[in-house]
Amino acid sequence: MDEPTKRSNELEQAMSKILVVGGGGVLGLFLGWLVVKYGDWFQHIGWLLVIGGGAALLYAIYGYLQTRSIPSFPVTCPYCNQDTEFTAPPVRDFACDHCMKLVQIENGKVVDAKQIKCPNCGSMQRISARATTGICEECNREMNVSKAQRVVAVDENAPHELVLTGVGRHPDRVIMILESMLSLNRLDVKKLLETLPIVLFTNITKRKAEMTRFELVEAGAITEIRPLAQAQAEEAPDWLKLPPT
Ligand SMILES: [Zn+2]
Ligand SMILES: [Zn+2]
Repeated sequence: MDEPTKRSNELEQAMSKILVVGGGGVLGLFLGWLVVKYGDWFQHIGWLLVIGGGAALLYAIYGYLQTRSIPSFPVTCPYCNQDTEFTAPPVRDFACDHCMKLVQIENGKVVDAKQIKCPNCGSMQRISARATTGICEECNREMNVSKAQRVVAVDENAPHELVLTGVGRHPDRVIMILESMLSLNRLDVKKLLETLPIVLFTNITKRKAEMTRFELVEAGAITEIRPLAQAQAEEAPDWLKLPPT
């Protein structure tokens, strides 16, 4: 089988044909009209041109309507998340229409991308899950994925915890926020704050933790977001420990 056909290419080809045929049709109609009007005894040639031009124009319109029924199989690029449309499901690797990266196809499916940290500049990069090397878009240096020690895969859904380490310069504002955030009364919050640092939320995504702490940080509180694996290694405060079952 050939390279998978992109719908945009097919559409472009169809449109250029339609423009040639349609343009010829319009020209034929115009010339025919001129001849019929001023051609004296050439009239029959004029009418032939009008009929031919009209037919070509109709054919072009028909062709244009046909392009709407070109089938569409959108494939989402794992790097930029935008769709490239095909006329049939792609069976070979293809270059994404939007980011120009090579999207790999395996058994009719897109090979997913993984996120890695560039060992040279530290920026997050997406590369094919099948690749063993890649070029960093930030620093243009080669990243060797097989040297797993230097490259850290990052799971966006990895559990984190949000820890309050200090109340800052406006403890009253922080206490008020904590009251509603934790559904506790003022006294309980104050008691809680005597044992800083405290874990406010655990087992949440980093994103959620960042969203949650926004209000606190704005009020001057000092917080920390820790990945849970690391946090578990430390001793949990007494009040957080589960009662024996
Ligand atoms: Zn892309
Ligand atoms: Zn880099």
